[in-house]
Amino acid sequence: MTLRTDYLIAGTGPSALIHYLNLQNSGKEAVLLGSGLYGQLKPVEYRQIGKPVNLLPIFPVTESNLWKRLNPNLKADNHLTLEKINLNGIRRPEYRLQACYYNYLLQHQQESDIPYILSYKQFGDLIFKHPLTELKKKLNRNYRSGQPKYLKTGFVNGLSPYYRFLKSREPYPVIPGMIEQIDYINKMVHTKKGAIRYNHLIYTLPLDYFFDTTGLKKTFELISGGARFLIYYTDEPLPENHLWYCCDIDSNIYRAFVPQKNLLVVQLSRKRWEKNPNEISTELQSITGIKEKFHHIDTTTHLHCYPLDVSCNIKKEELAGFLREHNVYLSGRFAEWRYIDLHEVDYDLNQYERESYVRNTVGYE
Ligand SMILES: Cc1cc2nc3c(=O)[nH]c(=O)nc-3n(C[C@H](O)[C@H](O)[C@H](O)COP(=O)(O)OP(=O)(O)OC[C@H]3O[C@@H](n4cnc5c(N)ncnc54)[C@H](O)[C@@H]3O)c2cc1C
Repeated sequence: MTLRTDYLIAGTGPSALIHYLNLQNSGKEAVLLGSGLYGQLKPVEYRQIGKPVNLLPIFPVTESNLWKRLNPNLKADNHLTLEKINLNGIRRPEYRLQACYYNYLLQHQQESDIPYILSYKQFGDLIFKHPLTELKKKLNRNYRSGQPKYLKTGFVNGLSPYYRFLKSREPYPVIPGMIEQIDYINKMVHTKKGAIRYNHLIYTLPLDYFFDTTGLKKTFELISGGARFLIYYTDEPLPENHLWYCCDIDSNIYRAFVPQKNLLVVQLSRKRWEKNPNEISTELQSITGIKEKFHHIDTTTHLHCYPLDVSCNIKKEELAGFLREHNVYLSGRFAEWRYIDLHEVDYDLNQYERESYVRNTVGYE
């Protein structure tokens, strides 16, 4: 069986859903292809809490155009609060590569060790091995002297406003299934159950998967960072929408976030992923100031949640340009392989039909 659509959106995460709503608003025909809805925004339900909760701290920036477009009526009065604690002495590493991110920090952030400590805790040894160009760009865009430039709104009853908005727009036209093959020459996507013909393909899945399904040769390496979260329940209420960054280089915890008053989501330091969750209670008590016991209820691991770099940016741009010539648009954090937040994705419809793309197909003809 072969289906036909004007716009096929590969993926069912938040960027795919926002693309869908934009196309729908413009009267375009579009369908989504993927399994499950909401991607990394998908809430979980714990017996101890009894209602769905978002675990990843995915917050809208209230000054952004996306927020204004999605939530014209939503108030943003429950802002996220940040706190840096446990400033501690530095152990500087002995080894590093000339062009690595750590050297960049040494040159640009000499007045403070905090950026070094936090990026080391978040990304581990990657900061000594790669320039992490995407991370630098993100810091330049979003931070000033280590402080966020933009206000982020918090969760409401444990749920991200992004999720609430997208949920309120259900149902979505989703073709369930995984992509087996993308034939971008003939504008067809194949799944186990059949084929879909499209005029435009908006691709939001991770870029490495794209090479597997198109057969295109990968001519650059993708460098990414992951995250491991420990989820704790506590009887004593915690301050909702509060995020602690722990600046002690030796601690097990990179940061801890409260999505709901009895739930603590702890992101472990990159080097401490194997830590036994029951062994860090004292640290949790000292970070949060809570004397109650923290009960470990879950662990989640995201292997590729931060696109940090590519080995050759020019080749990545060439690929994107080449694909646009075939009406395939890589869009979102993982497909574009840029360390961007949801509000930084280009959802502009005109981008799909612009004539002015640079024709540069070297290596892909
Ligand atoms: C700790 C943390 C904090 C964050 N904070 C923020 C924030 O404050 N603001 C913000 O905007 N963003 C934040 N993000 C990023 C946020 O996760 C992304 O912006 C958002 O999830 C991107 O949406 P997406 O639809 O592009 O990708 P995803 O949510 O990952 O969805 C991609 C889709 O692709 C599917 N998929 C993945 N791999 C495959 C595969 N191999 N084959 C088939 N399907 C696949 C998934 O099932 C999913 O449906 C944060 C991320 C992390 C990890």
